[in-house]
Amino acid sequence: MTAVPEGPPTAPPPGAGALDRRVEGCELCEAARITPWHHEDDVCWVADCEACDVPMVVWRRHGTQPPAADLDHMLGELERVATGLFGAGAYRVDRDMRQIPDHFHAHARDDGWWHRRFGGRR
Ligand SMILES: [Zn+2]
Ligand SMILES: [Zn+2]
Repeated sequence: MTAVPEGPPTAPPPGAGALDRRVEGCELCEAARITPWHHEDDVCWVADCEACDVPMVVWRRHGTQPPAADLDHMLGELERVATGLFGAGAYRVDRDMRQIPDHFHAHARDDGWWHRRFGGRR
């Protein structure tokens, strides 16, 4: 329902991604390491979202319907990273894919993010 702008998408640097099944022009398939990475494995990776400055988990495959096992795994990794950064329960998992709607990813937004978003950046 809410439409929160996330800022203009930025073009990934050329040659940054080397995944088998990447979709041309998809920022998440590019998997550009422009922000710190917290975790990576065969299923997903967790990195700080460039736009939001909070960790997000990104599926290794391009699509919106990960199998339940992959979904469980990804949310588990995201929660592990977010709990390490923010503390248990100090964040909310946001699965609204407003900026890149065709490639599964989820953000862990700490309580401060909502203040930064709605109170303006310092
Ligand atoms: Zn993609
Ligand atoms: Zn974001």
